[in-house]
Amino acid sequence: MLSHMELRTKVATCVRMMAMERMIDFNGHVSVRVPAEERGAGPASDGGPSRFLINARYSSRVALTAKDVVMIDEDGHLVEGEAEPPSESPLHLAVYKARPDVGSVAHLHPYYATVVTIAGAPFKPVYIVASEFGPEGVPVFDNPGLIRKMEQGEAVARALGPRQAVLLRAHGAVTVSTDVEGAFAVAVALEENARTMLWASSLGTPRPLSPEEMKAYGAPVSSRGTKYKMWDFYSEKARVSGWLNGLD
Ligand SMILES: [Zn+2]
Repeated sequence: MLSHMELRTKVATCVRMMAMERMIDFNGHVSVRVPAEERGAGPASDGGPSRFLINARYSSRVALTAKDVVMIDEDGHLVEGEAEPPSESPLHLAVYKARPDVGSVAHLHPYYATVVTIAGAPFKPVYIVASEFGPEGVPVFDNPGLIRKMEQGEAVARALGPRQAVLLRAHGAVTVSTDVEGAFAVAVALEENARTMLWASSLGTPRPLSPEEMKAYGAPVSSRGTKYKMWDFYSEKARVSGWLNGLD
């Protein structure tokens, strides 16, 4: 079980890695549900309060440290920390409310995946790691507005359904998983698939994987081995290239 400080550092690390990969710019945020044991209370379903850690609204995404990650409650109020939470916190909170299985939410502005939503092209898996998303691909939430109210967040959560990702037209994407590493891995698969679709479309019509091919490949991103392997690769890439300088 990670401590609060370790979770804060993990969120900061993830945001910096996403900035490195152009999946987050000066906006965008990663959150994590604080485990009940860490809150010093029983689980929310037993009457304990829900708590979430999220990077603050105005902190630079490339220089985040643990102190730039604040704790909020299920209504978005600041519980711990001194900085303002993001204005789109309701997006995260609505997803956590709708999905008890979700332990981490990332709201990104990934360049290529957003281009796909603008072109109106269906987002289908075209390379093997994205077989994770299955034959129906990733849905698009057809409203480019910012998600600043709980009702808007609930609409995004409905579009997400039981999936791991939803695209927001002309805005960005939301990825979810049981942990921060998983939300990061899903984001990488999403953006790499979009980039691949775009390049393939310059040469011809992108050919999605067949349902049989996807089934044969399985769900690589949510498998423990691949998820943590991806995290290790990108966190080492970030470290050796200086993206994690000053994190601690
Ligand atoms: Zn946004």
